[in-house]
Amino acid sequence: MRIVRDIREMQTASRAARVQGLTIGFVPTMGALHEGHLSLVRQARTHADLAVISIFVNPLQFGPSEDFSQYPRTLEADCARLEAEGVEIVFAPTPEQMYPNGATTVVHVEGLSDKLDGGSRPGHFRGVTTVVAKLFHIVQPDCAVFGQKDAAQVAVLRRMVRDLNMDVELIVAPIVREADGLALSSRNAYLTPQQRQQALILHRTLQQVEASSDSGKTSSEELRSTALSTLASEPAAKLDYFEIIDPDTLAPVAETTNGALAAVAASFGTTRLIDNLLLPKR
Ligand code: AMP
Repeated sequence: MRIVRDIREMQTASRAARVQGLTIGFVPTMGALHEGHLSLVRQARTHADLAVISIFVNPLQFGPSEDFSQYPRTLEADCARLEAEGVEIVFAPTPEQMYPNGATTVVHVEGLSDKLDGGSRPGHFRGVTTVVAKLFHIVQPDCAVFGQKDAAQVAVLRRMVRDLNMDVELIVAPIVREADGLALSSRNAYLTPQQRQQALILHRTLQQVEASSDSGKTSSEELRSTALSTLASEPAAKLDYFEIIDPDTLAPVAETTNGALAAVAASFGTTRLIDNLLLPKR
């Protein structure tokens, strides 16, 4: 497995692969890899000849009071896991390379970037779309795999790819959970044992919404009020949002008959967690 730290070197490696007729499957990550990330890596490997995984804690997507400096950085262990998965290239550039002095160009998806997490984390999605656009230019992937865990991110990136005619297929991989239902996240490492238990309320809430939906309820208002009362049963959860929305436009839907996304974000202590569930058409 090759670890590439230099942008030019990555571009040369991608060009060489494409000249040989090899397809490239790409997974952008911020490292601190867990099974959720590895499930994306496996998808990239089945969809393409060569897997490129980026590890880059992107300063542009963190707010001034967020956890950028604290974010777990475990490059050596990450590379060992990726090597065991049979990955060909890890691309791990420095912030100075990605954002040299004077870099002022950004990619911003208007109308979507201020919804859900974008509402609570101003500038977050602008940071995500800018870095992913840059990574796509550098890696030149045929396909890129993202997790359904970050459902709003998927909507924003789909729109970016469509609007800017990027020649890359987006593949969305399902949420990987712990045995007790907690969605895997690099930020779970911040939770105390007590908070980790409290955080199970997110998945429990989504399960209740799913059960109500399965029993025939389609009114978003009713589903939302079930969810809010379940969430309120865990006073340690500081709710950021619970929304029932269209997964592409992120706009609220009154009825879930055409399918919908139930998305939740809450903090446990200072750790903000997200989770979601796709409700099928009824
Ligand atoms: P991150 O390192 O947090 O930027 O995540 C990198 C990619 O992994 C994103 O596309 C996430 O949606 C995805 N991901 C994170 N956690 C999970 C999970 N529990 N299941 C599936 N994908 C995930």
